[in-house]
Amino acid sequence: MVKDSRFVVDLNVGRLAKWLRVMGYDTLFPREGGDNQLVRIALREGRILVTRDAGITCRRAVRLGQMQVVHILDHDLRGQLRQLVRERRLSMTGLFSRCVRCNDLLHPLPRSEAADRVPPYVLESQSTFMECLRCLRIYWQGTHWDNMKAELCRAQQDTA
Ligand SMILES: [Zn+2]
Repeated sequence: MVKDSRFVVDLNVGRLAKWLRVMGYDTLFPREGGDNQLVRIALREGRILVTRDAGITCRRAVRLGQMQVVHILDHDLRGQLRQLVRERRLSMTGLFSRCVRCNDLLHPLPRSEAADRVPPYVLESQSTFMECLRCLRIYWQGTHWDNMKAELCRAQQDTA
């Protein structure tokens, strides 16, 4: 249920868009159009709007329950992440399944095909590769992933 949540993220909490995608959530991050565009997308696509702008939470569509909003309160990214994970009960089951740049789902990339596309030390140390078919970026579970995972674990644990 919660896994199916989809989001649209306001520029004022832009870094959360990346984190939502890391967790595997379908997340749009429109860079133009302002509040009206965010609200339009949220309504049209049934997406949860994530924003620091209290004004949006007063909109009619929100009051009538046509649209869901997470009103982020913290300045600090760690606090923002914690609030989001807690409020929406975000799951980590889709971790690292989506391209953080494009929002597309990643596809498994055979090691043999990754061979001439990643640095040799990466090929040696990794067995599993994923690829975004839109931007062709290749992902693997390096230390960067471990760090992000640790950060998300912290966000989850703090909610207990
Ligand atoms: Zn991509």
